[in-house]
Amino acid sequence: MASPPNDTNDRRYRRHRDQLVDTLRSRGIRDERVLTAVRRVPRHLFVDPALRDRAYEDEALPIGLNQTISQPFTVAYQTSLLEVEPDDRILEVGTGSGYQAAVLCELGARVFSIERHEDLLGRSRSLLDELGYDVRTRHGDGSKGWPAFAPYDGIVVTAGAPEIPGPLLRQLREPPRAKASGGRLVIPIGGSGGQTMTRITRTGTGPHDYAREEFHSFRFVPLVSEEDDAD
Ligand code: SAH
Repeated sequence: MASPPNDTNDRRYRRHRDQLVDTLRSRGIRDERVLTAVRRVPRHLFVDPALRDRAYEDEALPIGLNQTISQPFTVAYQTSLLEVEPDDRILEVGTGSGYQAAVLCELGARVFSIERHEDLLGRSRSLLDELGYDVRTRHGDGSKGWPAFAPYDGIVVTAGAPEIPGPLLRQLREPPRAKASGGRLVIPIGGSGGQTMTRITRTGTGPHDYAREEFHSFRFVPLVSEEDDAD
């Protein structure tokens, strides 16, 4: 692995990270593996250098092109709902800064990530490489999924979707045997005013074999599909 960019291991940032983990715990994140992953990823390198000192506040921050790196609480919340096991194949829709992808790598997942903004993807790609995070990325519309590497044990959408994209449902792993559950899709569903975090679990092989659970409200940047006219 290439030597990490300067100040990856800066003690000050490590202390801030520990404090961030305490904050996440006090806000209700219970999954210790997720908290450990957050403690390891140098979030300050995923934000604009001018915002580095704010990287460990529990806030979303701008990453350019009207997009944001998700709030750490949101990343930890979505990652907990995914219930990632080592070697799971996880597809992320919305690479953005690459931070969520790095957290998934720390959990031992095999990570695939799609981003529609080519220049954002270029930046996050080189940072992930530099830090030694092995993420397969693709430029395009993630609402279509990435069939070549399906099925996935988990799919996480990090932008707000008005409705569930059908291709993502079809790319979830079928349950390995009766009564077991299959792949999980974690996706914020709703319009620009706010979305409900939703988890869809594949429960069988048929077109209706999916269970739906709803969780808290969030506010994400919108999922923009190829058919949409926006920018
Ligand atoms: N997971 C990111 C959060 C980025 S915000 C992180 O950890 O930083 C959501 C991202 O989704 C934005 O970068 C946006 O450009 C991207 N996006 C929106 N619609 C998309 C689509 N249909 N396909 C792929 N990426 C999309």
